[in-house]
Amino acid sequence: MDSMIRLTSNQRKVLEVLEQTGKPIGAYAILEKTGFRGAVQVYRALEKLIDLGLAQKLESLHAYIRVSPKDETELTAFAICDHCGHIHQLTEAREIRQLHECLAQMDFAVCRSVIEIHGACSTCVSSKRNK
Ligand SMILES: [Zn+2]
Repeated sequence: MDSMIRLTSNQRKVLEVLEQTGKPIGAYAILEKTGFRGAVQVYRALEKLIDLGLAQKLESLHAYIRVSPKDETELTAFAICDHCGHIHQLTEAREIRQLHECLAQMDFAVCRSVIEIHGACSTCVSSKRNK
């Protein structure tokens, strides 16, 4: 993959941690796992990974997550389950695309956007119902 070639060893290490974790992880937890000397190195690597579209920051959780770089649109929505921590990335949703088109019609240039929706996932909802 093209973007992998441009990564420094620090950036690759952080990306590996995000991949292995598979759910949102805080910068200090990343720091622990990478064994970097300081958080600055983690933040710098994360910044680049976000730039490349390989990672995304979830503001409401103060955490980072690995995302797929294929997205043509910069608009992404995350449905976050507050019970089990499951995250569903909604890039293909028609509504997201419509929002993108709407912004394009306004000649609004999006540089960063993360929509975070908190709630309960289908598994957690149905396990609650069965109790
Ligand atoms: Zn859940």
